[in-house]
Amino acid sequence: MQPTPEPLENLIDQFARFPGVGRKGATRMAYEVMSMPNEQAMQLAKAIESAKTGLHRCRLCQDYTAAEVCPICASAKRDRSTICVVESPRDIKAIERTHEYKGL
Ligand SMILES: [Zn+2]
Repeated sequence: MQPTPEPLENLIDQFARFPGVGRKGATRMAYEVMSMPNEQAMQLAKAIESAKTGLHRCRLCQDYTAAEVCPICASAKRDRSTICVVESPRDIKAIERTHEYKGL
C-alpha cells in the first residue's frame, strides 16, 4: 500500500480534530474535499477563513457576531429583565428559531 501523500494526511488530521469524527470519517471527508471541483473546495477554505477573521464574540453575551454587540443584545425590542443562559452559541440559534423567547 502506498503511503498517503503528506498534504492529504494533514487534511485528514485536521478533520479528525472535530469532536465525534474518527479517523475513518476524517478520511472520508478529506477524500470528499479532494473530489470537489477546485472552486468548491476554495469556497470551503474561504468560508472558514472569513468566519474566523470576520467574526468575534459579542461583548455582552459571547455569541458570534461581526459587530461589537450582536443583533440580539443591540435590539431595543428584547426584554432586558430576562436572561437565558446557554451552553454554547449554537444553542442561541435553536432558541431564536422558535421566535418565542424575547429576553436576552
Ligand atoms: Zn450579544
